[in-house]
Amino acid sequence: MDLNYSHADDAFRQQVREFLAANLPPDLRRKVRGHLRLGKDDYVRWHRIVAAQGWAAPGWPVEYGGTGWNAVRRHIWDEECALAGTPPILPFGVNMVAPVIMAFGSAAQKARFLPRILHCDDWWCQGYSEPGAGSDLASLATTAVRDGGHYVVNGQKTWTTLAQHADMIFCLVRTDPAARKQDGISFLLIDMKSPGITVRPIVMLDEEHEVNEVFFDNVRVPVENLVGKENQGWTYAKFLLGHERTGIAAVGRSKRELRFLKALALRQQQGGRPLLEDPVFAAKVAQVEIELMALEVTVLRTIAQEDRAPGPQASLLKIKGTEVQQALAEMMVEAAGPAALPFDAALVEGRQGIAHDSADEMQAAPLAAYYFNYRKTSIYGGSNEIQKNIIARMILGL
Ligand SMILES: Cc1cc2nc3c(=O)[nH]c(=O)nc-3n(C[C@H](O)[C@H](O)[C@H](O)COP(=O)(O)OP(=O)(O)OC[C@H]3O[C@@H](n4cnc5c(N)ncnc54)[C@H](O)[C@@H]3O)c2cc1C
Repeated sequence: MDLNYSHADDAFRQQVREFLAANLPPDLRRKVRGHLRLGKDDYVRWHRIVAAQGWAAPGWPVEYGGTGWNAVRRHIWDEECALAGTPPILPFGVNMVAPVIMAFGSAAQKARFLPRILHCDDWWCQGYSEPGAGSDLASLATTAVRDGGHYVVNGQKTWTTLAQHADMIFCLVRTDPAARKQDGISFLLIDMKSPGITVRPIVMLDEEHEVNEVFFDNVRVPVENLVGKENQGWTYAKFLLGHERTGIAAVGRSKRELRFLKALALRQQQGGRPLLEDPVFAAKVAQVEIELMALEVTVLRTIAQEDRAPGPQASLLKIKGTEVQQALAEMMVEAAGPAALPFDAALVEGRQGIAHDSADEMQAAPLAAYYFNYRKTSIYGGSNEIQKNIIARMILGL
């Protein structure tokens, strides 16, 4: 196994850097690097810039508008985007529902939805979790009952990320209540403008409206929006979750945050010297840097297996990646000290204007909100405890 980049890969990295230097709008870069919140327009603007370059869906087959890059190049692209401070391309369309539509959808679904996902003409959200079905997802209770050419959907989804902006939701629904619980589930694509859908905000610890409850009250969904076969949805759902977990290590973003942390700790004075030179704090920074380096090598080892599905290894990446992200967020707040404490919604939402130089990107005020927001990472995408169960069962054979 060779974990070094080839000359061709280095040249590719340079090409990506040049693209980002020329095309990433400075206001978006400052928002991302300064831990400010992104709005719908920010996500859509960046997605469309990347789509115009033909790079919005690197993992897709070329026939649907993918790049044809191998796993190493996709990794380089992700890493350079994170280091530069681009908004993310949201996963719900490109990385989640699109692979399911490609693998199991009808020709009409492919023709209708994939080009619109590629160009961000539709904003998608994920309707899996329910109040009584999170870790135990197969217990979901939202029903879909066939009525002529429609399904009639009733029930509730929760924690639905950014559903307030969504045009479409992909949903797991129960179509056979009598079957074993995994066998009675179907995968439906639902227009969020359908009569009977209500979206109610859930405001998080950091006062951000990032997630929602979505209610379905006799919502009529055309049968042509069923993906694959009725009652086979659990198979498609598991296929999708494999895609969700692989990108979750976020090594590039953690590298950017580590740089931020070091710069911040260099500016902060403690006992007449920079905090970064305090032996106790420096040891903590070194520890998280070591963890991050080990994680990066593990990611590269996974990539070296090329395009084989990572399987339970994805659970290791998820746990370690989120532990590193949370440790960095915690140390940033520690380094900023009392300056991180005041919560200023106007500042965090960028309503006070965006910082104008790199020194201003070092603002401490958004850091407490960032810390609280990042508590989510060990819960979403399958909680870290559930990932440990997967490792115990599938890697350790317990
Ligand atoms: C910010 C955020 C965004 C999200 N976005 C979406 C979204 O867009 N769409 C969507 O469908 N879902 C979304 N989720 C939901 C997410 O997938 C669930 O929160 C997650 O699967 C956990 O389910 P739960 O919240 O019901 O907790 P529960 O399943 O009730 O778990 C509660 C606690 O018990 C632990 N636990 C449960 N079962 C076991 C077990 N067998 N062994 C050991 N420990 C266990 C869990 O680890 C957790 O600590 C989001 C969640 C968050 C926090």
